Amino acid sequence: MGLFSGVIDPRERDRILCDSVIVPVTTNHLGEILNVGRATPVWNRAQRRAVTTRSPHCQWPGCQTIAAWCDIHPHQFREHGGDTSVANGVHLCRRHHVFLHQHRDWNSTFDHQHFRVFRADGTEVHPDAWHLAA
Ligand SMILES: [Zn+2]
Ligand SMILES: [Zn+2]
Repeated sequence: MGLFSGVIDPRERDRILCDSVIVPVTTNHLGEILNVGRATPVWNRAQRRAVTTRSPHCQWPGCQTIAAWCDIHPHQFREHGGDTSVANGVHLCRRHHVFLHQHRDWNSTFDHQHFRVFRADGTEVHPDAWHLAA
């Protein structure tokens, strides 16, 4: 078949792991994902509903993309002691979710209400200027 598993961009892999559990992932020789096996969402319906009630849209500063189109990003990664509790979940639209995972030198803070984003140089992304960031 010429297919093999396991070679995808690590940043993409992180993003995928962030919102789901996947076994296995099939990719082509370019590392593009061809097939994703049985995926079990980390966040159950009740949790998603709770996060949506708290934040009905993407929590990137200034972004109004509705929650139904968002991923839930655990602010503290499981590998770093975070969990999939509702308090730890941040709605991010696909664009901002991918962006955040592709910019490891950026920082974010989340106090269970406000998600704040800081560029690599330490300056904060403000709601009225978020579109200038990307
Ligand atoms: Zn994420
Ligand atoms: Zn967004």
